[in-house]
Amino acid sequence: MNFPESAAASVAYAVSNLVYVIEPNNPKSSAFKHSISVSTDTLIKYKEQAKKNVFDEETEVEIIHTNADPFSNLYASVVKGSLVSVIIPLNTSKTILIPAIPHLYKIANNRSTSTVIHVAVDRNHANNIEDYTDVMALRQTGCVLLHSSGIQETWDLSLIAHALSIKTGVPVIHFFDNDDNNSSNTNNYLENDVIKKLIEEADIIKYKETLASTIKQNERYFRSIVLSSDEHITDESKINGGSNVMENPKDNFLSTVDKIFIQFKNETGRLYKSIEFIGDDKSDSLIITLGSGSRHIKELIQGGKNLQNFSMVKIRVYRPWSEKYLFDFLPKEINKIIVLEQVVARTTKWTPMYLDIVAAFQNHLYWTNKLPIIASCQYGTFKIESIGLEINTLFQNLSSSEPHRNLVIGHNTQKGNGTNGINGSTNGINGKINPIDNAPTLEKPYLKMLLEVFKDRLFIANVTSKTNVGHLESTPEFGFGVLLAKLQKRDEFANAVTQIVKNTSVSLPEPLLKTLSQWLLYKDDADQSKKFGNTAIEYINKIKKSNPSLTIINNQQNLFAKPANWLIGSDSWAYDIGASGVHHVISSGKDINILIIDSQPYTTRTAADPEKRKKDIGLYAMNYGDVYVASVAIYSSYTQVLHALMEAEKYKGPSIVLAYLPYYNEEDTTITVLKETKLAVDTGYWPLYRWNPALEKEGKEPFTLDSERIKSELQSFLDRENQLSQLVNTRPELSEALTNSLESEVKLRQKSLAKSAYEKLLGGLSGPPLLILFGSDNGNAEGLAKRLQKGAKARGVNARCMAMDDYPIEDIITEKNIVFSVCTAGQGEFPQNAREFWKTISSTTEISFSDTQFAVFGLGDSKYWPREEDIIYYNKPGKELFSRLELLGGNKLLDLGLGDDQDEDGYETGFQAWEPQLWKALGVELLGTVVEERKKTDDDMKDESNFLRGTIAEGLEDTSTGALCERDTKLTKFHGIYQQDDRDLRDERKAQKLEKAYSFMVRVRVPGGVSTPKQWLAMDEISEKHANGSLKMTTRQAYQLHGVLKRNLRTTIREINKCLLDTLAACGDVNRNVMCNPNPYLSEIHNQVFEFSKKLSAHLSPQTSAYHEIWLEDKIVAGQAVQDVEPLYGPTYLPRKFKIAIAVPPSNDVDVYAHDLGFIAITDDHNKKLLGYNVTVGGGMGMTHNNKKTYPKLGDSLGFCKLDQAVDVAEKVMLVQRDFGDRTNRKHARLKYTIDDRSIDWFRSEVESRLGYKLEKSREFQFKDNSDRFGWTKGLNGKWHFCMYIENGRVKDFPGLPFKTGLREIAKIHKGDFRLTPNQHLVISNVPEKEKPKIKELLKKYKLDNLQFTGLRLNSMACVALPTCGLAMAESERYLPLLVSKLESIIEEIGLKNDAITIRMTGCPNGCARPYVAEIAFVGKAPGTYNVYLGGGFYGQRLNKLYRDNLKEDEILKELKPILARYAKEKLDGERFGDFVIRTGYVKATTCGKDFHS
Ligand code: SF4
Repeated sequence: MNFPESAAASVAYAVSNLVYVIEPNNPKSSAFKHSISVSTDTLIKYKEQAKKNVFDEETEVEIIHTNADPFSNLYASVVKGSLVSVIIPLNTSKTILIPAIPHLYKIANNRSTSTVIHVAVDRNHANNIEDYTDVMALRQTGCVLLHSSGIQETWDLSLIAHALSIKTGVPVIHFFDNDDNNSSNTNNYLENDVIKKLIEEADIIKYKETLASTIKQNERYFRSIVLSSDEHITDESKINGGSNVMENPKDNFLSTVDKIFIQFKNETGRLYKSIEFIGDDKSDSLIITLGSGSRHIKELIQGGKNLQNFSMVKIRVYRPWSEKYLFDFLPKEINKIIVLEQVVARTTKWTPMYLDIVAAFQNHLYWTNKLPIIASCQYGTFKIESIGLEINTLFQNLSSSEPHRNLVIGHNTQKGNGTNGINGSTNGINGKINPIDNAPTLEKPYLKMLLEVFKDRLFIANVTSKTNVGHLESTPEFGFGVLLAKLQKRDEFANAVTQIVKNTSVSLPEPLLKTLSQWLLYKDDADQSKKFGNTAIEYINKIKKSNPSLTIINNQQNLFAKPANWLIGSDSWAYDIGASGVHHVISSGKDINILIIDSQPYTTRTAADPEKRKKDIGLYAMNYGDVYVASVAIYSSYTQVLHALMEAEKYKGPSIVLAYLPYYNEEDTTITVLKETKLAVDTGYWPLYRWNPALEKEGKEPFTLDSERIKSELQSFLDRENQLSQLVNTRPELSEALTNSLESEVKLRQKSLAKSAYEKLLGGLSGPPLLILFGSDNGNAEGLAKRLQKGAKARGVNARCMAMDDYPIEDIITEKNIVFSVCTAGQGEFPQNAREFWKTISSTTEISFSDTQFAVFGLGDSKYWPREEDIIYYNKPGKELFSRLELLGGNKLLDLGLGDDQDEDGYETGFQAWEPQLWKALGVELLGTVVEERKKTDDDMKDESNFLRGTIAEGLEDTSTGALCERDTKLTKFHGIYQQDDRDLRDERKAQKLEKAYSFMVRVRVPGGVSTPKQWLAMDEISEKHANGSLKMTTRQAYQLHGVLKRNLRTTIREINKCLLDTLAACGDVNRNVMCNPNPYLSEIHNQVFEFSKKLSAHLSPQTSAYHEIWLEDKIVAGQAVQDVEPLYGPTYLPRKFKIAIAVPPSNDVDVYAHDLGFIAITDDHNKKLLGYNVTVGGGMGMTHNNKKTYPKLGDSLGFCKLDQAVDVAEKVMLVQRDFGDRTNRKHARLKYTIDDRSIDWFRSEVESRLGYKLEKSREFQFKDNSDRFGWTKGLNGKWHFCMYIENGRVKDFPGLPFKTGLREIAKIHKGDFRLTPNQHLVISNVPEKEKPKIKELLKKYKLDNLQFTGLRLNSMACVALPTCGLAMAESERYLPLLVSKLESIIEEIGLKNDAITIRMTGCPNGCARPYVAEIAFVGKAPGTYNVYLGGGFYGQRLNKLYRDNLKEDEILKELKPILARYAKEKLDGERFGDFVIRTGYVKATTCGKDFHS
């Protein structure tokens, strides 16, 4: 057995249930060639010997010929659970690999499909080297690409390929060189026991179980895959059956491969590596290569003839491709790289691996050194003895001032014909430079791909390029005409064949008649028409002379094979589609394919002719329903382009492939083209997708998304398609109305209205009668718009709903009915997503609304601006819009509707009165009484969620959007996860019609704020890998990660749990993270209190298994099959969030009074013994600006409880709130309102009756401050604690201040704790005396020991706010430090530098940084505008009071300066600033929550 091919066949036979071997179509024997392949020969022998596989089962062998679409059965066999392999013998791959792409896509897209395809790579005889062109074309199918060379390696890697595929569920393409003369070859057979060690039965069982469960999942609606960056390989469930918690999935996949390599070495002694480094790791020159040619270079390096002292990286696993993994192997001094590839028949200007390497350095996420010069090189003909000299020349070229980047070793053997391969040749032997001067031009690759796929069937009716736009030959009309004529000609030809077959008077041989009949049947099938055509031609050639009736078809033999008819156009075709030939093709229904190449670079798209907006041809065509549409980009996913071209051609009807190839000119560098492509694809400007209506006819999902983000218009189209199919299928409310035979006149009228609305709906798909536009910045106006849309649909009115700025305003005159829902932003301004619309409407008189009926509902707050003169801002946008529409001739449906936040039910009050009038005006009010749905409350949502499951798991799988559905975003809060979007990017993305830049905030519970160094390291690493690189310590002693993308959520949560922290109940209507004083200087008491905080946290944690099910396990979410119980919470949990803090006097750093439930530790007189706790209830910070029904409140005293009663007391307090909290109004649902509505005495007696005993009277204690104690302190246990200042809790490396790195270094050596303080600072706690110097040194080195700040700064605190918090009205965390700097120059001047004054800022009135107990507080109202509050208690014992509203920075400074100056002069001894401003009359003291606004 001396052929690598037979080694692969042998291993495949040993480990498979079924082996497909693919034979060329017409194998012919010769002295030099086997009549059947070596593989087939091997397999047949095994069958004859009745050999069994290693599992003692029979292995089936099926021989398939290349013309029988050999991969078509593979998917069906694999998903049955069989272990299936494919062998592609020598001289077969060229024919079979490219057509296999659609099948490989399908297999790789399944979440768990093990199969190995062994490919014997064909040798290019001119170059005398294997040609990987076709294998490389498969690089984005989602399969693993694994290469081996020589017989022993092929034996070994064949087995490793199978082991890998079974363990991971990912298909593997194992391609090998069939060179049996490799001198280094040995030939050790693999024994069965070695095979069984690598492929254990347990792995197979696990794989089959995963397969069975995932097939089901894959059948759901809107399945999509991500191909451009091999992301689907990154699905962790594919790796080890999902049993391991994974880090970066690609890197981990490769580390799984390496584990198998090591396991293999342990069994055989032979070690392989995914990536291998050979040479001197100090060299500055490097060759990166893959393939058989590497052995010559290896010999050169190891043989001492290495003139350039270059080293080599040999790639063995080419996909998945991991930049990080590659960079681990690169010497850091590298400055010249040659990427040497065995790709002979190039279609693109740059070779595949070269593109990968350039892209990797372009990202250079993992590369911090100087970027090297990189050149692409391919093999021509070369002599082994001169290869050293040639490589030397290549590197010298890279040292020149203008190096060539497209090179060849030896003679270039490809003679250029402009269509295939490399044009021209340059002699590079003996020291001359070897550039490929005529590499394929940048402009031509799509044309070359068409040739590669369709070969002699390709017919291009026109050619267009950047330069000949406007020529007749380049117009779609011209090409369309040519193709119509061609189609007609072939139809006539088919008619002629039909006549001959039917004409009984003509005597033709039976086999010919049969063949012609079969041809007629398959004339539209590319392969079959060619097959039957060729057979017919053979017969015809034999008898044509004696049969004149055959003359017509004999003269047109070329029409037998179905041609691939293509039109090629430029993006200029995108203008004015309706009038162009593109429209004719789309609407013709003819089997014509159009390829439209858009070459406009992404970064110039807006600058270029902004007035003339390009239409989205793809969307336009998809709306026709029966047009195949694909959007592709060659330099993002080459394989997807091939796939789309094949699908388009196969589709029986019009097809459009939109291809992206951004460039400025032919001289563009690789980086330019790659960067432009990546930007366009990653931002969703140029999504990769395929829309295949043929699939829909088969009952399958027609849309496949091949990239991550899509444009909002495309999303809307898909949403509409989805909705319509559901509506047409289900319509229960209307069918009920239709079939109801009740007699009353009203019912009859309803019946007729329902019918006409239903017909209107079905008939009105292309012209919906109601357009609902919203302008919304906090979701309320949008929410109302969506409710209206729902109401409209329930009434049979086909309604569309979108943001005002998303609507193409030039179309507005075609609308019949428009309803606007618009809120008020800033100083009576239109919200962000309505400004462009308003700008146009308000500045033109040319738009006439005379044929349009309109209605406007405005949302505002009549008390938002307290000054009387500012009432003009109330609902200003709604009022202005209404007047403007009237002025432009619009017909009002009803009077302007106004919603006021100050009304009893807020804006709902006005809306509920207005909405019925709208339906009446539209003539559909009666239907509403039948079909109106009750508005769902948050409690309904919780109740229906099956204990917090909802559809979160399904949403995580949906790669078409970076977001979760609205209901699930509410549920994920209970799991500690908030959906957010980068508000800094909103406008830009909106301008590009992109989905918002969604990401997630993940909050990690840390009871008492105490975590270990190991946990710190884990959080640090997670923040780098999955979040935005920074770590936020929150005001409630939790860790917060920002910027986690949906696809990384599961991995993130798993890794958090792996380090024994979790996110469950970090948000949501449950008890949140229990805060506790970190108090290192009273450690004995603290330890007891800390233990209590943990116990309390555990006791009040939700019990649902949904968290584990969704985030930590791989089993499918079980829906109603799992019945959880929440003994404390019940299915609807609490009415609102519930917060607990425990304080240890004299420090009130936790702000115990700001919490729903507070415990204040009471100790004996010597602070030695903890006696129990004073209990406070009903604190809470959140309120709404100027809404007096909402206010902050400090907790009331409930009494004293003993230590063993404390958990019980907490539980009962929470349960009373569970049962009596307001579940109808979330703004009134916190415990503070329950108590204020019913009195503290009532609340106490309710708690005590549940406890079964009375609480004692509260005991004496004293608080001194609510800040942190910075610097070193020594605890009672003799250990040291250092509290450092972390501005606003943001841990990251700042320029010159590498805080995050420093803390990482400390965590590596520290054995004590990392304690998060309630003021967002950090304590390095429990440092033994002897370790202190080391810690001190690190603190100093990383500038973490700096405490030389003003008292103001040390006592400052800000919430996150912009850009991530969706509720923020103004900056906070990013702005407070700047404002403090400006205040510092004031206080330093007046001598208050060291005075501690608490100063806090939040971006909205929700109060996350507890601003209402600060001595000075700023609460955001609008960008750059804040309300200023003064007079909070220094130790959190008193609420502050509004001093001035709506101040900008200069006004703030102007207001505060004299007050601070006066304080400096007039303060009494020990008098705090908060007390001073009350004493001196700047504000009145706030005595209770209800008094806050007075
Ligand atoms: S206070 Fe408002 S702006 Fe700040 S983080 Fe909380 S919700 Fe966001």
